Amino acid sequence: MKKDIKSLSYAELNSEIVTLGLPRFRSKQIFEWLHKYGVSSFDEMTNISKDLRKKLADIYFISDCEIEQKYVSKIDETVKYLFKLYDGEYVESVIMKYKYGYTICVSSQVGCKMGCTFCASALAGFKRNLEAGEIESQLHSAQKDLNIRISNIVLMGIGEPLDNYENVIKFLHNVNNENGLNISMRNITLSTCGIVPKIYDLMNEELPITLTISLHAPNDIIRSRTMPVNNKWGIDEVLEACREYINRTNRRVSFEYTLIHSVNDTYECAKELSERLHGMLCHVNLIPVNDVAERGNVKSSEENIYRFANVLKNNGINATIRRTLGSDINASCGQLRRKRNGVK
Ligand code: SAH
Repeated sequence: MKKDIKSLSYAELNSEIVTLGLPRFRSKQIFEWLHKYGVSSFDEMTNISKDLRKKLADIYFISDCEIEQKYVSKIDETVKYLFKLYDGEYVESVIMKYKYGYTICVSSQVGCKMGCTFCASALAGFKRNLEAGEIESQLHSAQKDLNIRISNIVLMGIGEPLDNYENVIKFLHNVNNENGLNISMRNITLSTCGIVPKIYDLMNEELPITLTISLHAPNDIIRSRTMPVNNKWGIDEVLEACREYINRTNRRVSFEYTLIHSVNDTYECAKELSERLHGMLCHVNLIPVNDVAERGNVKSSEENIYRFANVLKNNGINATIRRTLGSDINASCGQLRRKRNGVK
């Protein structure tokens, strides 16, 4: 079985190159080809001899994301890809254009084990973790196809990033490497449903990324109805981990709060959430739920959304209502992979 060379960290690549009896400068060259230029074959590595390219190709392969489908929003230029992986599995990514540049929303797993009731990713089932190189290949494929440079990353696609911890950390270091895509950690956001022990592990990595928690409820009773993970780690434990994260990193934590009609969008919910988050260096992102067929979740009314935001603001909690991008192309993740797997 060949090894995926793109999923090696810089240090791992270095030690493999040395083990092969090659000079160290080769690792920098190879790392650049793989990570800065995102080549998909050894033949593209033109400053490396044919013999060496052949030797590398005998031992390694280069993980890739092949564009299976592409949708471009007519409303706001958002682009959504369905990517095919080497084993015939699919993941999705979305590219969004903002004033400050391009942001990609990447998937971290093929499917998800978390089972949140409003989410499309859970419906199509969990298959496997993505390798670090496969997470990164989503950027390379999109950059090449659109002829752009991506400046920001959000780990908010299919999967739970903290359930694929090692590969995600390796991905973060590789995209941040100055010989690679050189994307600042400050431009990277990781979203989690709240796997508490991994939040502590993450703060020990001391990476200046933004942590986002999918909270979606002000108390355990409501949260456990939609998010099974809450039965393992309740809101108190999640918020405690967030406070520690803020203390340790000095960085503001964000909360995602998907508004579902008469589930979590009442005045009382907003009041309770304000109390729980009181005094915390945080931001709340309110997202009108995107209904997924047969989930039966109804979007909150405009009136309830604004009321919710105002209650938070009046109680001193920073809150914004998320602008919906790509609404005409099913831009919310999980939807395309599901269709592809034969579910309408
Ligand atoms: N597993 C991670 C990241 C992936 S989901 C997490 O849970 O944070 C990215 C965000 O989209 C999460 O906040 C998730 O709760 C939210 N989401 C999932 N399905 C949604 C839907 N149908 N409508 C609105 N937001 C949704």
